[in-house]
Amino acid sequence: MIDQSTFLECRCGKCRLTVCDPLMRYRLECLCFDCRQRQLISASKHSDNRLPIDVANYNRGVDEYYFANGFLVEQSSREQLIFSKLRDDAFNTTAMSACCGTLMCGTHPVYEGASVSVNADSCHVGTSFVMPTQVILFGCDFPQDKYVEIKKRAQAPLSFSVYDELNSDPMIDFLKAVTEPLAKVYKHSGYVTFETLSEQAEIQIDNAYFDESRSGKD
Ligand SMILES: [Zn+2]
Ligand SMILES: [Zn+2]
Repeated sequence: MIDQSTFLECRCGKCRLTVCDPLMRYRLECLCFDCRQRQLISASKHSDNRLPIDVANYNRGVDEYYFANGFLVEQSSREQLIFSKLRDDAFNTTAMSACCGTLMCGTHPVYEGASVSVNADSCHVGTSFVMPTQVILFGCDFPQDKYVEIKKRAQAPLSFSVYDELNSDPMIDFLKAVTEPLAKVYKHSGYVTFETLSEQAEIQIDNAYFDESRSGKD
């Protein structure tokens, strides 16, 4: 029997992706401008999508989970997915639910097509195992005084400027975890990847809330 215990579900319940490999691969806290911008865009789509108060106030970053890139998706959920990038040259592609503006999952070239990231502050993630946060990324994008506070309470290693620290231990662990191909045992009949889901779709460019997402740094 297929294990369907791990799933990604939008806030209104119309869109649901069953994750083929139920085990979370990685978890990190992201302080970057773009994660904040995506959350602000999501918040603008529905009144229930406000940023968590701690995120809004820069007391923490976004809670990101990583799962293998393989899903079982019913047609009705598939029809709810819209795909976007913040800018033409942006690395991330995001799947959002049309019904309620939930950030369902996203990809980045460094995952090599093997994983998706999930904003667990936006998307409802059903899973039986949640690992502790492994690393806190992009301190460079956070207000300086707030970053000092995060450093004081941090239970995980911090990275100030990720692209300068790709050879650090946490980044090596991260890249190893997220580039692991989907195991054969989880390639269920009819499974789809993020790329399968997005291949027919137009990738929209939505750079709304660019200034707002960066205003805390001034
Ligand atoms: Zn929904
Ligand atoms: Zn981020």
